[in-house]
Amino acid sequence: MSPSRTGELLFGTGGVPLSAESRSTEAGIKRIAELGLGCMEVEFVQGVKMSPEVAVSLGELAARKKVVLTAHGPYAINLNAVEPQKVHMSKERILQTARIASLLGAKSITFHAAFYLEDTPAETYATVKKQLEEVMNTLRKEGNKVTISPEVSGKISQFGSLEEILKLSSEIDGVLPCIDFSHWHARTGKANSYQEFFDILDRVERKLGRRALDNMHIHLSGIAYGQKGEIKHLMLPDSDLRYAELLKALKDRRAKGVVICESVPYLEQDALLLQKTYRELP
Ligand SMILES: [Zn+2]
Repeated sequence: MSPSRTGELLFGTGGVPLSAESRSTEAGIKRIAELGLGCMEVEFVQGVKMSPEVAVSLGELAARKKVVLTAHGPYAINLNAVEPQKVHMSKERILQTARIASLLGAKSITFHAAFYLEDTPAETYATVKKQLEEVMNTLRKEGNKVTISPEVSGKISQFGSLEEILKLSSEIDGVLPCIDFSHWHARTGKANSYQEFFDILDRVERKLGRRALDNMHIHLSGIAYGQKGEIKHLMLPDSDLRYAELLKALKDRRAKGVVICESVPYLEQDALLLQKTYRELP
């Protein structure tokens, strides 16, 4: 679990802030603390290359600076790949992310679980569930306590509707959702008002219990989208996402955990905007 500052909704960046002294995770953690933000997602999107020793010392730095960490697994993951070797490597990459995240003292890891390819959503769900259960069995044997949080995806070709992610979370111990509200809005063209956001949080609580609202892993960014869903990330003020209404719903439901901002290009600027907007809400 998080080393510090539980019981709050924290705001931070997906990756090292642009204004950090260098592109290193260490510089990122220090910059997050200087900016007065509360969390950072360590990006292993091109692969897990960090050494265990470095992870332990970064975890200590983060605890000292009161920065809660999460991690993002490699993009090269597809638990529904046709080739068995690709499925095997996908599971390995999730395991590698969870192991390094545990040494970092990270609260939760997220990743894009799968593509439907030629399969139906139901077939894909069954495959993803089976593979993820095997991953969880391995992590349990290793005593790894990091929360595994598959992400709500932005494209209709990608496994990861809100329903699918909530169902996985309810059926596999140790799995909770990473809700990317921008992705869900892009994927559906809906989910962009106070009432809709409130209803989503309601569904989360009904399906997974209060503990899910107490341990949220949220992604948020400005987003451009079309018929097939997500096109690209934007700055929040340049997109149609009604983030203030989402923040109000999160506050009214007393949601806790982390909000990771992935806006492009100025990610910390939008993370600070979200934090300020949230704090100024009645
Ligand atoms: Zn992601």
